[in-house]
Amino acid sequence: MKFELPKLPYAVEALAPAIGKETVELHYGKHFLTYVNNLNGLIQGTKFENADLETIVRESDGVIFNNAGQVWNHDIYFRSFSPFPKSEPSGALLDAIKKNFGSFGEFKETFGKAAISLFGSGWAWLYKTDDGALAISQEPNAGNPIHSRTGLPLIGCDVWEHSYYPDYQNRRADYVRNFWNILDWKVVEEKFVGKK
Ligand code: MN
Repeated sequence: MKFELPKLPYAVEALAPAIGKETVELHYGKHFLTYVNNLNGLIQGTKFENADLETIVRESDGVIFNNAGQVWNHDIYFRSFSPFPKSEPSGALLDAIKKNFGSFGEFKETFGKAAISLFGSGWAWLYKTDDGALAISQEPNAGNPIHSRTGLPLIGCDVWEHSYYPDYQNRRADYVRNFWNILDWKVVEEKFVGKK
C-alpha cells in the first residue's frame, strides 16, 4: 500500500499562536512527510507491503514500526486541531472524564503532567480501554495505544522537540498549556463514540 501525506484540514498559519506557521510547515511538511516516505520505502518487499496502516502499527517493530507509528500518530495529532475548536467536551465523553478523573480541570492537569514529565521524545495519550474506562499514558518515541494494545486512542500530544521548539524553545509546559486552545473536542468525541 502506498501511503500519502493527509491534507491538513486548515491553513498552515491557522493554529497560531498556539502552534505557529513555521512549526506546522516543519512538523507537517517535513517530519510527517519524511515518516510517510520512509514507510513507503521500508515496507517494499516485506509482509507489510499491502497491509493497511493500523495492521502495520499493531504488528510491526523496529524501524518499520517507528515510521508507521509516527505516520499514524501525526495523522491523529494534526486532525485533532482546529482554529475554531469545540473548547470543552460534553455528553458521554464529559461524563466519562468526570467518572475517571473527577472533573474536566483535573483531567487536563493530569494529562498535562504526563505530557510535560515524559522524558525525551514521545507522546502523551488519552485512550479508551476495552472495558470503556479512560486512561492516560506516556509512550516513548513512536509508541501509541494501538501498538501497546492498551485501547482506542482519543488524544495524542506530541512532545518530540520538533513539535514545539520553534514556538517555545525549551518551554514544553507552555506548549502543552496552549495545546488545549486548539484541540477540537468535537473530533475527540467522535473518536470516543466510534465514528472515526
Ligand atoms: Mn512529531
